[in-house]
Amino acid sequence: MNSQHPVIIIGAGPIGLAAAAQLIERGQDVRILEAGDSAGAAMGEWGHIKLFSTWRYNIDAAARRLLETRVPGYDGGWQAPRETRLPTGAEMVDEYLEPLAAHPALAGRISYGHHVTNVSRIDEDGAGVDKTRTAGRGESLFLVRADTAAGPRDMVARAVIDASGTWNTPNPVGRSGIEAIGESEARAAGVVTSPLPDVLGAERERFAGKTVLVLGAGHSAANTLISLGRLRQQEPGTTVLWGLRGTANPVRLYGGGAADELPARGQLGSSLRRLVENGDITIVENVAVASMEQGEQLLLNLADGRSLAADLVVPATGFRPDLAPLAELRLGLDPDVEAPRALGPLIDPEFHSCGTVEAHGERVLAHPEQGFYIVGMKSYGRAPTFLMATGYEQVRSIAAALAGDRAAADAVELELPETGVCSTDLAGSCDAPAAAPASAAGGCGAEPEPTGCGAEPAPVAESGCCGTPEPVTIGFATGTLHGFKELATEGS
Ligand SMILES: Cc1cc2nc3c(=O)[nH]c(=O)nc-3n(C[C@H](O)[C@H](O)[C@H](O)COP(=O)(O)OP(=O)(O)OC[C@H]3O[C@@H](n4cnc5c(N)ncnc54)[C@H](O)[C@@H]3O)c2cc1C
Repeated sequence: MNSQHPVIIIGAGPIGLAAAAQLIERGQDVRILEAGDSAGAAMGEWGHIKLFSTWRYNIDAAARRLLETRVPGYDGGWQAPRETRLPTGAEMVDEYLEPLAAHPALAGRISYGHHVTNVSRIDEDGAGVDKTRTAGRGESLFLVRADTAAGPRDMVARAVIDASGTWNTPNPVGRSGIEAIGESEARAAGVVTSPLPDVLGAERERFAGKTVLVLGAGHSAANTLISLGRLRQQEPGTTVLWGLRGTANPVRLYGGGAADELPARGQLGSSLRRLVENGDITIVENVAVASMEQGEQLLLNLADGRSLAADLVVPATGFRPDLAPLAELRLGLDPDVEAPRALGPLIDPEFHSCGTVEAHGERVLAHPEQGFYIVGMKSYGRAPTFLMATGYEQVRSIAAALAGDRAAADAVELELPETGVCSTDLAGSCDAPAAAPASAAGGCGAEPEPTGCGAEPAPVAESGCCGTPEPVTIGFATGTLHGFKELATEGS
């Protein structure tokens, strides 16, 4: 591939910026296209939310090295945040992503207000290469089109890294993965809100004294429910309903609690449980929304004939990748979770309720389309268990491969905290065997990877995670018996 052309990175979120830092460190030319007006645009939209992983896990190693390097004539004055502190989304942007994006090594390479709409291939001489052309495809370049304030713009790249996240494509509220009849109108009217409204801050007045239905059972739902529960304690006229697709299973709903290796995440489940037990939050089971009608309140008609009335609906139903801009590429996607084919089975929430995944890099993330990668939150497709630390290792490996360092690309290493549900009595059958191999890809003995945010797990069976599939929830379980340091080597 022609190295006169840059590697184009789509998205200036934590993983896109880390990809850039990794590539720059290896002397590669990069260009970042960001739809928003600033770095971390998606994270800024949930800036009021506190992360559950501390700064220790939230900063990419190459980005840190860049921020700590003195550049003649430039003193960014970056102070590394305290490792044990939990930042909010806004603090991640202010204290890390913006300084990183402003660093002289990066600043001139980022184009804001560039919303990528298409990625395809093109010959060196400018002749087009559509999806059906095979001859010479591997040697051809990439054509990337972005919408900008000045109109559409085409750019050419030697490789493309899609780090555009999933924030802009939330799952619908309706049953079966499609919008309920009337849902788009209810969204347009603002009755169905954004996935993570700032209930106790900027949007307090909107929610106070209202009947609010929160749909979902993941981390986002927990955050919003806890805020609403607190709002109700201050504004008793507020009614908080928690709609679940299935029945209320405590392990699924409240996770590892005090046993969670990430205390902030465990605390979420414990707080939620208290609010439900106090009666501040009322659970409604088996909510499958078929249609919605707007009147004085929003009426949600359920598949079983029941109806629910609410003033506002918060759709904490998870996210999915936007694959439309990639339609001209030959992708190799897992049909179930829409992650790269080799990664999908390792993170499928139906089978990996313990949040298990092995350290993975360029080989696992490769597509039939040579030189194209999906990384970060988007690489997990519809699976809810992505962590930044995982993404940083993904882009380290890809940057090494693009720079021709195959050995470094294949030596994947992942340091993650262990977590809870699978190690608690609540979910007893899930414990990983002591000698579980680091490369185990399936079942509960597989390598731990914690968490899950913003997504609602699929309906579950009652058995533990080693039996019938049961997805991750707020506890974001993993096996307990692996240490903090996980090391695996791909391709061996
Ligand atoms: C509420 C919440 C809490 C979370 N908490 C944690 C946590 O504690 N720890 C953790 O490790 N992970 C956490 N995650 C998961 C994950 O790490 C974050 O979502 C993280 O922001 C993902 O980074 P990313 O760079 O892949 O995507 P994003 O942060 O979503 O960044 C994508 C960027 O791409 C831009 N973009 C989108 N589409 C286009 C386009 N077509 N063209 C150009 N630019 C585009 C966006 O504007 C955005 O700036 C959390 C997620 C959520 C939603």
